Order: sequence, then structure tokens, then C-alpha cells
Amino acid sequence: MIQINKIYINGEFVSPQGTDTFDLIDPTTNRKTGEVILGNEEDTKAAIAAAREAFKTFSKTTKAERIVLLKKLHEAVSKREEELVSTMVKEYGGSLQFCKMSVQNAISAFTTTIEILESFDFERTAGHSKVRFEPLGVVGIITPWNASNSFICNKLATAIAAGCTAVIKPSEMSAQQTQLIAECFHEAGLPKGVFNMVNGLGNVVGTEITNHSDIAKISFTGSTITGKTIAKGAVDTMKRVTLELGGKSPNIILEDADLDKAVPMAVFGAYMNNGQACIAPTRLLVPQNKLNEVNELAKQAVRNVKVGQPNEEDTTVGPMVSAKQYERVQTYIRLGQSEGATLLAGGEGKPEGLEDGHFVKATIFTNVRNDMRIAREEIFGPVLSIIPYQNEEEAIKIANDTPYGLAAYISSSSKEHAEHVAAQIDAGRICINGFAHDPLAPFGGFKQSGIGREYGVFGLEAYLEPKAILA
Ligand code: NAD
Repeated sequence: MIQINKIYINGEFVSPQGTDTFDLIDPTTNRKTGEVILGNEEDTKAAIAAAREAFKTFSKTTKAERIVLLKKLHEAVSKREEELVSTMVKEYGGSLQFCKMSVQNAISAFTTTIEILESFDFERTAGHSKVRFEPLGVVGIITPWNASNSFICNKLATAIAAGCTAVIKPSEMSAQQTQLIAECFHEAGLPKGVFNMVNGLGNVVGTEITNHSDIAKISFTGSTITGKTIAKGAVDTMKRVTLELGGKSPNIILEDADLDKAVPMAVFGAYMNNGQACIAPTRLLVPQNKLNEVNELAKQAVRNVKVGQPNEEDTTVGPMVSAKQYERVQTYIRLGQSEGATLLAGGEGKPEGLEDGHFVKATIFTNVRNDMRIAREEIFGPVLSIIPYQNEEEAIKIANDTPYGLAAYISSSSKEHAEHVAAQIDAGRICINGFAHDPLAPFGGFKQSGIGREYGVFGLEAYLEPKAILA
């Protein structure tokens, strides 16, 4: 049995004062594999105090000193790449392909941040004033389970680049992965208190971080509902918040798109990270006159989607993270049918031979209307909705008719045409003809997908407070 019984405070792995436990469950078998001992409010206060103390000196470090630390972090995380991938696959059932990419993103967060920091000016002029960009203070980093280490590495790298110190509260469902990453950070030799990590529940450790007056900023990635709770709590002490929240991203296939390429890409994209991705293109918008052709191509594409054991090289979709998430997805599949959408592939129940774990069939609904709940709510599972549109104007209207605005996708044979449509879509990131990741570009959501931006210079500025000095 695995036991995660340490948290990380002030440069040391220590036993938490909290005594509650959280069960670790293997998503491929639904069997208990171990437990995490959870930190409590007192542990969180101790972590914040350590970070506060460390900030006094860390905030005075030079850019060059912080670049050295980021290099050490990069080296320490790179060394354990394989272990990080296998733990990620095992812990929540992400496919091997996805987990390799996610750990790569975690590692490259340090090199990208170094690149940004090297050319970043902490002192500028505006009008006749000098403007200093000063580190905000102690940052509370709260992360979800679905690509935990990639979020933690990016947020911590940015905090360090800015001269901030951090208290990290990972998801209780990622304790094995975050234990490993904490070991990497420890090995990198960060000054004591610069980084602290407390395992615990959201309404205990997360709430303490949200309310505590010594936390200057919260960088949160997770659901919109939790983001709202954090934003409300943070306002009392006027904390800065960066909120990376949920999505229901449209994928618009324009009239002039190459369907043979666009449709398989749309199907595989919707299933990224087992369909548990905030940026997944879950609403496929297609011209009404091409609906039959798209349906046929989607049916062919889904035959190549292997739902299976996540550690097998050719698996596209592994299990859902938990029994609760499995049930949630089943509810939406039933809902889609009762709302009148046409089931094109997959459906209720577990795939044959995978009855033990939290596996869901790769599911596609067609003839979906944008007012159906399967088109409006984040399902967070391998369920794609195909929505027909009459003309481009209607496609844009449907794409924007959502409370979310995290990402959008457009397929077209003309870049100019795609960019013309992109200009009319309310989303923080729009990919044309594919699924690109650019760590130098801002990332974040319009509307209820979040507040603020991460990555690139935009991300770094969100950990700094500009101070104008007028002489
Ligand atoms: P979640 O909101 O349930 O939990 C995220 C984190 O918040 C966890 O660490 C949790 O313990 C903590 N938390 C829960 N309640 C809290 C509270 N009251 N106060 C403070 N912290 C609290 O999300 P999840 O299920 O772990 O992750 C899936 C969600 O995350 C999806 O909605 C997905 O779209 C979103 N997500 C967004 C992005 C993005 O970049 N925009 C990326 C990945 C995931």
C-alpha cells in the first residue's frame, strides 16, 4: 500500500498535523492502492509563515540568481522524467501519449520561463516616471488533477522568476505525482521556504490559502465553480487572482475545410486526456450540407480510437479519474439521448473487457442543438457533440453562445478566412487547423473560463506589482 504521509514546509518533508486521510484508488481497477494523510489549517498556516519569511530575502534576489535556480529546477525535474510519466499514467489513468506530452510541458516550463526572464525589464519608464515591477509576495498555487505537474511547474517557475515565494495545494487526487515533483524541487536546492506544498482538501487547505491575509495572490487552475468560490473569498483581502477555469470549446469546420483531415482531428482532439481537458474541442460545428459526410468520417475516425489500459502505447482513451467522474459522464450520455440528440458512437456503460475500471465508451452525438445540456455544460469525458449550422454567421453565433471562452478551433483551407472568423470568436486561445501549444503566447479564458492570463510575458506580469516613481 502506498502511503503519502509528508508535506513540504520550509525546506523539509514533515509529517502533517492533520490526521484525516484520503484514499488513493487505481482508476483501471477501482481498487484502493494507498492513502494520503491530509494537511489541515495549521499546516497551511505554517507553510504560509515559512513562505512569508523567505519572501523577505527572496524578493531581493537578482534576475541572474533566479535564472540559476530555474536551471537547477529544470535539471532536477528532467532527471525524473520517466518516473513522472509512469506515476501520472498510474495515478489518474491518463494515456501514455498524453502523459509524456504533459511531463514535457512541465519540464519546458523552466526553460521557457528563463527565456522570458532574460529579456524582461523590471524597471521601465512611463511618461516622466520610473516604473518598478516588484514581486507580489506569497503566492497560493491551487491545482487540479488533470495535468497537475505541468500546472505546478509553470506556476512555480513564474513565481520564482518574479521573486515570489509559494504555497502549493495540489489536488488530493494527484498526491503521488506531486510527491515526486516536490522531491525534484527539494533536490534543486531552492532556498528554504521559497516553495512549500501542503496536501489537503479544497475546503480546508484551499480555503485557508484563500482567506489568509499573508497570501498576496492566488494562481488557480480548476473548475469554474471553485474559481468563483476562490474569487469571492479572495476579495476580502483584495488578493490578486489568476483563474484558469472550465471550457466548452467550439471547433468550427468551415465550408472550405478539408474534411478528411479536419474530422479525424476533431474526434481525437475531443478525447485528449481521456476527454478530461479544459481546452478539449467538445462542440464540433459543421455546415448542415456536410453533416452526413462529417457523420460518416467521424464514425470511421472513432473506430481508430482505442479505449484501453492507459500504459499501452496505442491507447487513446484511458479510464475516468474516479468513480464519481465516471458516473457524471454516464449521466450526460443518458441526458444526450433523452434531450433528442442522435447517438453516433459509444453510449452508456463500459466497453467490453474493461468492466472493472472507470472506462467510458468513446461517444459521439450528432444533430445536437446548442441549447441542449450536453452542448452547454462541461462533461469532462470522451463525449463529442456535433452541431450543424446553416451559414457562417450562425456558426459564429453558436460558437459564442456559451458561458465559457477558453479555447476555440477553426478548420479551413484558407488561413485568411480562418483568421477572419477567429477575430469574431470570444475565446482566449484559437487554434487554426490543429492543436498547437505556444508557451510564449498568453493563455486564459474569456467570460466564465477565467480571469487573467498565464504563460509568456503576460503570465510573469501577473506575479508583479507595478510601482510608479515620479521624480
Ligand atoms: P476542482 O475545481 O474541483 O479542484 C481544483 C483544485 O481546487 C483542487 O486542488 C481542489 O482541492 C481545490 N479546491 C476545491 N474546492 C476549493 C475551495 N473551496 N477553495 C479552494 N480550493 C478548492 O477541479 P478539478 O476537478 O480538480 O479539475 C477539473 C476542472 O479544472 C475542470 O473544470 C477543468 O476545465 C478545469 N481546468 C482548467 C484548466 C485551465 O487552464 N483553464 C486546466 C485544467 C483544468
